[in-house]
Amino acid sequence: MEKRAQIPVTLPVANPTVSYWQDPPSALADHRTTATLPATADTVIIGSGITGAAIAWHLLQGASTNILMLEARQACSGATGRNGMSLFTILIPNHS
Ligand SMILES: Cc1cc2nc3c(=O)[nH]c(=O)nc-3n(C[C@H](O)[C@H](O)[C@H](O)COP(=O)(O)OP(=O)(O)OC[C@H]3O[C@@H](n4cnc5c(N)ncnc54)[C@H](O)[C@@H]3O)c2cc1C
Repeated sequence: MEKRAQIPVTLPVANPTVSYWQDPPSALADHRTTATLPATADTVIIGSGITGAAIAWHLLQGASTNILMLEARQACSGATGRNGMSLFTILIPNHS
């Protein structure tokens, strides 16, 4: 684990392996709402994985709709589109 933590974090690679979950790609995979990048935005979210999507969803529950999401490759093409989909409940002991 310590050795893996030494691997430098890089930008998304250009030719990733194809994930089982992304074959065939979703209709949203290459979705783009504007031909050119908007000049301004209230919030810029980098990455369309679960972290970026959750931030966007929460912002959209409020007044902010001027949100720009940038994705280097296809929508959810990172870990979110490659995971094992296991969900676990973490039991937190009650100390009171
Ligand atoms: C093989 C595997 C199995 C897993 N299994 C499980 C599981 O069973 N259960 C579980 O709970 N979790 C699992 N995980 C972990 C879980 O998938 C991740 O913790 C989670 O998806 C991370 O989400 P994220 O949005 O932070 O990152 P990501 O989903 O990786 O999203 C980041 C996005 O940002 C984009 N990006 C990065 N840099 C830039 C940039 N400079 N400009 C533009 N875009 C950029 C990337 O292309 C990517 O789409 C697994 C992960 C993997 C890889």
